[in-house]
Amino acid sequence: MKKPRRTTRRQFLQQSNVAFAVLSAPVVPLYRSESNLMESPMESQAEVQNCEVVIIGGSYAGLSAAMSLGRSLRQVLVVDSGKPCNRQTPHSHNLITHDGATPQEIAEKAKAQVLKYGTVRWQNGIAVQAKQIPTGFEIKTESGGLFRAKKLLLATGVTDIMPDIPGFAECWGISVLHCPYCHGYEVKQQNIGLIGNGEVGFELCRLLYQWSKKLTLFTNGKSTLTAEQHEKLKARQISVVEKDIAHIEHNRGYIREIVLGDGSKTPVSAVFARVRFKQHCDIPQQLGCGMSEMGHIKVNDFQKTDIPGVFAAGDSTTPFRAVSFAMASGTKAGSFINKELIDEAF
Ligand SMILES: Cc1cc2nc3c(=O)[nH]c(=O)nc-3n(C[C@H](O)[C@H](O)[C@H](O)COP(=O)(O)OP(=O)(O)OC[C@H]3O[C@@H](n4cnc5c(N)ncnc54)[C@H](O)[C@@H]3O)c2cc1C
Repeated sequence: MKKPRRTTRRQFLQQSNVAFAVLSAPVVPLYRSESNLMESPMESQAEVQNCEVVIIGGSYAGLSAAMSLGRSLRQVLVVDSGKPCNRQTPHSHNLITHDGATPQEIAEKAKAQVLKYGTVRWQNGIAVQAKQIPTGFEIKTESGGLFRAKKLLLATGVTDIMPDIPGFAECWGISVLHCPYCHGYEVKQQNIGLIGNGEVGFELCRLLYQWSKKLTLFTNGKSTLTAEQHEKLKARQISVVEKDIAHIEHNRGYIREIVLGDGSKTPVSAVFARVRFKQHCDIPQQLGCGMSEMGHIKVNDFQKTDIPGVFAAGDSTTPFRAVSFAMASGTKAGSFINKELIDEAF
């Protein structure tokens, strides 16, 4: 007769973990667990904190997801390094209920409301490493914190790459702007400079012409616009300046004029430009998330990446950059993470 197979310590720990999660997960606060420490830890000495969902990035997308999950009685940990992409902009617009508020006001109010839900915890810091483990994910912070969760949400945003024009970075979000829906109204009918060339420059002209007829396009080098595009701009008195930009003259981020290589100056009230970007951190790459050609994390309609258990929301996933979009996708991610946890347990 065959001997009955003994349950190994590892199997027992795994099974009791599952049962424990099903019975009590929604109301148990973050806890430290020795059993989990035994499963492929990043650092065997580090203390592990367990939760159901880790959200990396605690700005508009991450906080919206945390609210959905907190209200679903999920144990959530938000790790945030405090560097949202709009931090330099004095006023945020185009968000009903908060039109004209500072980005910090919106974020602080959101954080206070989210942290009222007892199952949501906050951790200041940079998540530097994330990897899959049998029970989900293990996340390590720069200061050595170690967290485990069944699901992971990347709400990490993007970093805008400033062009090599002195003064540009200092004016970014203040008077050098990325989006007319966010900041166009405040400079309507004023002298506006546009920095861009070819198709991008032409599209900027078409878009901004809705807000002001006093436009100048700076191609910062030889124009790559087509003859037809030049004609269309000329017909609307939009001049094209091909000389190199030397620097941007400004007072504490408020632009005065664009100074060209030959010393000539064009006074403008604001500049609109498209800049390049990169993902804010390399955690999506560490996990092997698929990326779009433009450099966004690929997600489906439910904010799921192509790595099971990993969701993403906000600017890191879309070219449509606005606080309202980030909030909407965060809320959606939170709901579908909760749904996936329900599906796995019930
Ligand atoms: C200059 C500027 C002005 C803007 N003005 C407006 C406006 O007026 N109105 C409007 O609707 N939209 C505006 N936007 C767009 C809006 O700011 C973004 O769409 C929005 O901030 C995206 O939210 P998010 O949560 O996806 O990312 P972000 O707000 O960029 O936040 C990402 C968060 O993740 C954190 N993070 C990243 N990696 C890690 C890591 N490894 N560990 C821990 N934390 C991490 C960051 O520190 C940050 O706190 C503006 C954008 C810019 C650049």
